Order: sequence, then C-alpha cells, then structure tokens
Amino acid sequence: MIQRKIFRFGVFALIFLAPMFANAQKGEKIQTIVIDAGHGGKDTGALGKITTEKAVNLAVAKKLGAYIEENMRDVKVVYTRKTDKFVELSERAAIANRNNADVFVSIHCNSTEGATTANGAETFVMGESKNEKNLAVAKKENAAILLEDNTDAYDNFDPNSTEAYILFSLSQSLYQTQSLNLADKVQKQFKNKAGRHDRGVQQAGFLVLWKTSMPSILVELGFINNMKEEQFLNSEKGQTQMALALYRAFEEYKREFEAENHTAPKPKANDKPAAKVSDKPATSGNGGTYFTVQFSTLDKKVPVTDKAFKGVKDVEVYEYNGAYRYVSGRFTSKAEAVARQNEVRNLGFKDAFVIAFINGERGTLKQAEEALKK
Ligand SMILES: [Zn+2]
Repeated sequence: MIQRKIFRFGVFALIFLAPMFANAQKGEKIQTIVIDAGHGGKDTGALGKITTEKAVNLAVAKKLGAYIEENMRDVKVVYTRKTDKFVELSERAAIANRNNADVFVSIHCNSTEGATTANGAETFVMGESKNEKNLAVAKKENAAILLEDNTDAYDNFDPNSTEAYILFSLSQSLYQTQSLNLADKVQKQFKNKAGRHDRGVQQAGFLVLWKTSMPSILVELGFINNMKEEQFLNSEKGQTQMALALYRAFEEYKREFEAENHTAPKPKANDKPAAKVSDKPATSGNGGTYFTVQFSTLDKKVPVTDKAFKGVKDVEVYEYNGAYRYVSGRFTSKAEAVARQNEVRNLGFKDAFVIAFINGERGTLKQAEEALKK
C-alpha cells in the first residue's frame, strides 16, 4: 500500500516539477509579490484562546500588502485571499503561477499539542525536513487539503504519511538559493526589529511551496497556543511589527536582487555547436537502467559542452514536460552516483541530486536498485 502510494506520488512529482522549472530565467525586476494568508473560512488553522490562526494570518498579510502598495509603486501585490474565505492549497500556488509572481510569501502561525512554552518565529523553504519537528509543521499545514472537496490535484498524497514526504527530497526547487536568501532576511528582521525569539530558517515539504515556480517562503509568526505570544500576535502592535519585519526583508531582497540580477550566468544557445544532445538518454548499457545525477534544468536546450556546465563530466540532456534536464554520468550503483552528486555539488551545482532511469524512463531509486539486482 505504502509502496503504491509513493509510486503514484512519484508520478505526480514528476508531472509537477515541470512548471517549477519552466521560468528559470525570471525578469530583472521584482514586479509582483503574492501574499498568502494561510487557512481561512471553514479552515481555522490552529486555535488560540482569544483568536484563530486564520485571523492573525489575514491581518498580517493585509498590513504587509498595504506597506508595499504605499511604498513601492513598481510592485503589484496579489492576495490569495483578502477575506475570511476558504482557498485550496493548489489554488494558492496557482494564483502565484498565473500572476507570474517574483516572490511568494505564505503566512502562518505555529502551534503544538496543548498549551506550550514554545515560542518564537521561523521561516521555511521547500526542502527535505531534517528533523521530526519540521516534518510535524509541514504535516500540520498540509493537512488543510483534507478539508478540500476535490483533492485530485494531489493524487492521493496523504499529508499524514511520513513515507509520502520522502519524495520531496527529489524535488528541490531551482529557486532554493533565492528562497533561502529571503528567508534569512525575514528571520533577521523578526529577531532584530520585532524582538522575536529566532527559531531560524528551516526546510520541510510544504505542498503550497512545492507547487509554486518562484522563490517562495512560509513563515510561522509564533505559537498561537502560547498565551503570551498569542496576545502579541493578536495585538495591533504585534501585527504591525511582524508585517513591518516582512516588509523590510522583502524591500532588502528586492534591492539586492535588482542590483545583482544581471550577474547570473545565462547560457547562450549558440555558443558552440551542439555536441551529442539527445531528447532522452539512449537506452544503451544496462538496458537503459542506471542512476545518474541531475544538476540543472533549463527551459531551452544548450550544448552539453556549454561553459555554464564548467567541469561537470559526461553531461547528457533529456527533455521532460517541456524542460531540459541536464545530467552527469551513468552508474549501476547508487553509491557511485552519490559520489558523482557530491563532486557536482562541489562544482557549484548545489541542488544536484541522484535520479534513476529504468529502461530509459524515469523511475524511483528503489525501482532501479531492484532492476539492477536482477
Ligand atoms: Zn497554518
């Protein structure tokens, strides 16, 4: 059962990776921000004694949007909701993608079982959760889909199943570096300007972040089931401080991005004559079954010898859902592939990860291991 779920989810992962990579080259300016007040309507989010998560999220989201609208005439603010209404997680991400947003900020409050002394703010980016605590936060936020009438968009994803989250480790966003940068700025502001206990920048598998194709973060403003923190989050002063902290972090991120954006290397399609560039790795060798290391995804095809791929050995490219994925090497053991992955990461492709082909088609690492054993 679990196997089947992971496999189905794997297929889902591959289908939805494509939009994530489709606009690898964003514009030179930050023109649109999508502000996502978590939960709403029948989904209250976490409950406090005097307020609800959905109410705090919305209040801070509207304040943040107002600061940007007042002070940054060149930025368009789009809200996933401006009232107390229910919005599906997939629709929240779709709003960001449709508007071609440059930044996506999802606003939430934390909670634990029962009253707590836990306190402080933290900011998440999409990634593999390194501990139980982060996994628990993602499970809680993803559980919002259980209130949706039609969950086809998630293809049987069970937000409570730990196994389902394993696949997330394969789906690192092309925008992870930028997301981490923004998250870091937000945490500094929460700590220094809003006086919050700094719980740091964290990673976990959030559906709402996973489906967006731009730098995106999810903030947990504080613990709504901690009496003292709830009072702060429910107050005009507290909401203003948190919104201002988010505004300042966004303003700094925008300024830096616009000063530096032209330094990002843009591969030129006609730099050199194309070497061997196939649409799909050939099904030679072990019947087309092997591990390889995916290190880059672009929306156009460039020669595998392009200097953007400095020093990476045995580069091949394959097309999947309209995006070109660049891989390095073919290995019959996962250990060799992991060694290559580390080599490639050391060359600066920090998001490089091991993938597998079974008879020339993408499959799970486990399936490849099984197939190669025979
Ligand atoms: Zn939440």
